[in-house]
Amino acid sequence: LRELWAAALFADAIASSRDLFGSGGEEAAYRALEGQGGSVFQLPRTFGDYELQEELGRGGMGVVYRAHQTSLDRTVALKMILRGQFATADDQARFKAEAEAAARLDHPHIVPVYEVGEYQGHNYFSMKYVAGETLSGRLAEGPLPAREAARLLATVARAIDAAHVHGVLHRDLKPSNILIDRQGEPHVTDFGLAKRVAAGEQLTRTGAILGTPTYMAPEQAAGSRGKMGPTTDVYSLGTILYQMLTGRPPFQAATPLDTVMLVLEQDPLPPRMLNPKADRELELIAMRCLQKPPELRYQSAAALAGDLELYLAGEPISARSGRFSAIVGRWFRETHHVSVLENWGLLWIWHSIALLVLCLVTNWLHFRRHEWPVFEQPWPYLLLWGGGLAIWAPIFWALRRRAGPVTFVERQVAHVWGGSVIASVSLFAVEMILILPVLTLSPVLGLINGMVFTAKASILSGEFYFHATALFVTAIAMALLQAAGIDLGLTLFGVVSALCFMVPGVKYYRRSIATQRDAADE
Ligand code: ADP
Ligand code: MG
Repeated sequence: LRELWAAALFADAIASSRDLFGSGGEEAAYRALEGQGGSVFQLPRTFGDYELQEELGRGGMGVVYRAHQTSLDRTVALKMILRGQFATADDQARFKAEAEAAARLDHPHIVPVYEVGEYQGHNYFSMKYVAGETLSGRLAEGPLPAREAARLLATVARAIDAAHVHGVLHRDLKPSNILIDRQGEPHVTDFGLAKRVAAGEQLTRTGAILGTPTYMAPEQAAGSRGKMGPTTDVYSLGTILYQMLTGRPPFQAATPLDTVMLVLEQDPLPPRMLNPKADRELELIAMRCLQKPPELRYQSAAALAGDLELYLAGEPISARSGRFSAIVGRWFRETHHVSVLENWGLLWIWHSIALLVLCLVTNWLHFRRHEWPVFEQPWPYLLLWGGGLAIWAPIFWALRRRAGPVTFVERQVAHVWGGSVIASVSLFAVEMILILPVLTLSPVLGLINGMVFTAKASILSGEFYFHATALFVTAIAMALLQAAGIDLGLTLFGVVSALCFMVPGVKYYRRSIATQRDAADE
């Protein structure tokens, strides 16, 4: 991916710096100027009803000019597609969607769209001109005072909530898309990635990663996985608050791809580690927005605005309350890594069966050891377990590899599991050296596997704490059975550990089928 990304950036740079189309005149000049970051047009210049006066800024797709509208004698901001006549159909569709999304909204803190049109092959729309600066310009000077930050973000969050109520997700909230007028009031702009959602409908992402990864929620950065909704914008608002408090966004790496990895994998540093003067309450509010699972964030932009307003009024904020339950809830929740388990569902089902058969056979052989004295020796068991695992582990891994590249967390889980296999087989050696009757130490299998599931609980999903507990209890039960002379310990272990794999195996297998169905629907 890293290489592909670099190649894509390279291709893009070449495409925009050379006159690939061989056209002369204005377009060639336009391309040359564009490569140097110059303006598309010589300014000032008449453009239909407008007089373009000054370039205000540009982003991924558009150039924005300050312009004078002759017929109505007013100053407006005019946005057009950067690539002019060479804009792809995709660019044009997105541009049109932006104008439409913004035009649907009527809110004092959302920049209103005046007119949409096309002139000499250039798609454009005009909007209210906001004299002042962008929030990113303001933040370049460093963190904002706490109350100022809270006030600005509360206003923005209210505006975004109004957009959500009208079924529009912004999806590209970042400081450069928030304009601050001369009175210090914020105005949200750039609905270029906005998406309209019908009431109640969940939005699934398709296609390439859009937007700036630095300000993107994990479900947005992750591409196809996960559903986007109002909480996706709440996350981005949290990154803005974070930057207001610390002067830098929560995740920023050398390349966009590395940033995406941080957004997906890492927890942000607490703002007060970066700026000891940052406000404690606002830190809590920002961290609540930046939770990776959407369910743990504020459920709406209005809820975030409400908390900021409580803070401004000096009243207790909600981000503080319910912390104990939030912590316990966090322990038992699935982590964002759990999606890797979808690849493992079917394998775990097979693994559970293999494990059960192995344990039952072992128990049966041990049961018969008085008739066949060879089974009082450790060798047959060592062969059975060592051989069985030696055959099964590579099959398991080969099957997994078919599902695609192996992720880092899978590597971790595989290591824990591999260690447990070595520990289990080593029990025979320990028994031999201590001259213990064979399988005396088998209750330790329950302990080893309890440890494995504790590790899985930390990495994948808190529900594995239950499996771990079941296995620890099984270890004690196996010891009790052995002490009472009942030779059923391994059968018990086989049943419990098989269930520990079978139940999540079925769950995640069904989930992977559902995911595939969703993908097919799209
Ligand atoms: P892009 O989609 O290319 O990011 P934006 O709509 O964010 O385009 O505009 C790019 C820049 O132009 C903004 O960061 C801001 O500096 C300036 N700008 C955009 N809209 C206005 C406006 N209505 N009034 C004043 N400046 C604006
Ligand atoms: Mg922008």
